[in-house]
Amino acid sequence: MKSYKIALIKGDGIGPEIVDEAVKVLDAVASCCGFGFSYDELLMGGIAYDITGDPLPAETVAGALNSDAVLFGAIGGEKWDNLPREKRPESGLLRFRKELGVYANLRPAVVYDELANASSLKPEIVRGVDLMVVRELIGGIYFGEPKGRDANKGWNTMVYTKDEIVRIAHQAFKIAMSRQKRVCSIDKANVLDVSQLWRETVEEVAKEYPEVELSHMYVDNAAMQLIRDPKQFDVMLTGNIFGDILSDEASMLSGSIGLLPSASVGAKIGVYEPIHGSAPDIAGQGIANPIATISSASMMLRYALNENEAADKIDAAIKRALSEGYRTGDLAQFDAKEICSTSEMGSIIANYIAK
Ligand code: NAD
Repeated sequence: MKSYKIALIKGDGIGPEIVDEAVKVLDAVASCCGFGFSYDELLMGGIAYDITGDPLPAETVAGALNSDAVLFGAIGGEKWDNLPREKRPESGLLRFRKELGVYANLRPAVVYDELANASSLKPEIVRGVDLMVVRELIGGIYFGEPKGRDANKGWNTMVYTKDEIVRIAHQAFKIAMSRQKRVCSIDKANVLDVSQLWRETVEEVAKEYPEVELSHMYVDNAAMQLIRDPKQFDVMLTGNIFGDILSDEASMLSGSIGLLPSASVGAKIGVYEPIHGSAPDIAGQGIANPIATISSASMMLRYALNENEAADKIDAAIKRALSEGYRTGDLAQFDAKEICSTSEMGSIIANYIAK
C-alpha cells in the first residue's frame, strides 16, 4: 500500500489541538482511498525553544526535508515575546520557509454558501466566491537591496529578476489549469519599472498556457475590485507585498480566520498551514475552529501528493458539516444548529468521509 511520510509541526497555543483534528481527518480519508500516512512529529516555535533553546532545531529542518510534505499548526505566544529576535518563535518560522525554499504562497479564499452571512460584505456579493491568491514569497521589496535607514530617511528596494517572475508565473498558470483557467496578474506597471518587467514576463509565460485567459490589473484597482465584485477572480498572481495585502483582504470575505488554509510551495517540500496564528486567548479550551487546518491538509493532498479524489472528499465533508449547521464558537451566531468543540468538529468531518 502506498504510504506518505508527513512531517507534523504542531507548535504552540491551539496548534496541537487543530493539527490533531487534521490528522484524524487524514487517517479517515487514507483508509477510504487506499493509502496510508506515517507521521514524524517535529518541534518548532516556543515549545522548541523551551525544550532545545532554539525555535528551529536542525532536526526539524532535516526531518521536514526527509518527508513528502509538512503539515503545520501555528507558533508563538506572549511567553516568548520578550526573547531576542532570533530566539523568537516567528524567527524560527521565517527561517524554516527560507531553508525549504518555498517561494510561492497559495491562499484560497472560499466562501461557503452556508456562511455567506458571516462575511462583513453583503451575502449576495460574497456567495460563490472561490479565488486563489498566488503570492511570490521570498523576493520583492521585503528582501531587495539596498535597504536601510538613518535618522531622517528609510529605504527599501523592490527588485524582481526575470527568473523569479517566471517561476511564480508558472505556479499561477498551473494552478489555473486545475481551476477556472483564468489568471489576473496584479502589478503597478503604470508607475514601477519592476512591474513593467513583471507584466512583460507574465505575458511571455502565458504563451505556454494557451487555454488560460490572462488579464492584468493595477494593484489599487484590485484592492477595490475585491470588495466590489470578488466573484470576478479565479487566480490572482501577485508579487510579495501586493499579495501580502490583497490576501489578507481576500481572507476577510469568508467570515472567520478559522476557516482559511494556505500552502507555501515551489520547492521539493511544501508547507501546509492555516493562515491564523496560535490564538493564545483560546488555547487549551477545545474551542478553536479546526477547519482551516483540515482544509490545509486537503491542499496538501492536492498539491503535494496528487491525491485529488481524497482532497475532494475532505472539501465535501467540510461543506456538509457546515450545511448541517455544525459550528465552532467563532461562527456560533451564524445559523448554528449545534455548537461543537474542536474535537467534535474534527470527528464530524472524519465521519462524513468514512460514510
Ligand atoms: P491569531 O490568528 O492567533 O488570533 C487572532 C484572533 O483570531 C484571536 O482572537 C483568536 O482567538 C482568533 N482565532 C485564530 N484562529 C482561530 C481558530 N482556528 N478558531 C477560532 N478563533 C481563532 O493572531 P494573533 O492573536 O495576532 O497572534 C497570536 C500569536 O500567533 C502571536 O504570537 C503571533 O506572532 C502568532 N502568529 C503565528 C502565525 C503562524 O504560526 N503562522 C501566524 C500569525 C500569528
